[in-house]
Amino acid sequence: MTATKAKRNPRWNNDEIILALDLYFRLNGKAEDDSNPEVKMLSDRLQLLSPVESKIYEKFRNTNAVTLKLQNLRHYDPERSGGMPGGGKLDGEILLRYYNDREQLHALANSIIRSLDYKLPESPLNNDEDASALEGRRLERLHTYLERNKKLVAKKKAAEMAKHGKLACAACEFDFQHFYGPLGHDFIECHHKVPLSQLGKAVFTRLDDYLLLCANCHRMIHKIKNCDLEVLKKAISVAKT
Ligand SMILES: [Zn+2]
Ligand SMILES: [Zn+2]
Repeated sequence: MTATKAKRNPRWNNDEIILALDLYFRLNGKAEDDSNPEVKMLSDRLQLLSPVESKIYEKFRNTNAVTLKLQNLRHYDPERSGGMPGGGKLDGEILLRYYNDREQLHALANSIIRSLDYKLPESPLNNDEDASALEGRRLERLHTYLERNKKLVAKKKAAEMAKHGKLACAACEFDFQHFYGPLGHDFIECHHKVPLSQLGKAVFTRLDDYLLLCANCHRMIHKIKNCDLEVLKKAISVAKT
């Protein structure tokens, strides 16, 4: 008996919708048929993005599925009529989020495509959708991967140690060794400063792209638009007064 693949394909996730929407904008709502080479290219990339799902599901993100998704997106396009409903509300959310910010969307799409060069740990396609991930999951994973890259982090810490003789948080100056004694020796987190939409162009080995932060400030900086260090420092100094 040969194994049969599951028929019902999983819902499209943020990254996939971002790639489809980028193509939708570039096609200007035209040429939405599966003979278009761009449609074929997108289908191939989506299968590369989800190698596990591609094996499990029949016709996973094939050219038909891509053209249908372009129609689903058109359904939410405020300047066009027609299209097909049924794609899910995330289609509409992402379309409206980037409707007037197509360059940003294109940069994100390029970053996602570029991230295919990196073998990242697999994560399930449909863990619960959250709105904060509108910039795409894969790039967040790439960001985390860079921050946990042991070699680079060690290099960054060594450089900081050589320069300042201690490892202090760049935002609040917390020094783990000073506070915890030997337990805190060599302890600090590394934050990768390059915005997600620029990750596709970044050279990943530049120590200047890293920032040393205490665990609290690292959590906080990720709540700030573009992870702006100056905004975080300002927040700390305002709260202190
Ligand atoms: Zn701090
Ligand atoms: Zn970070």
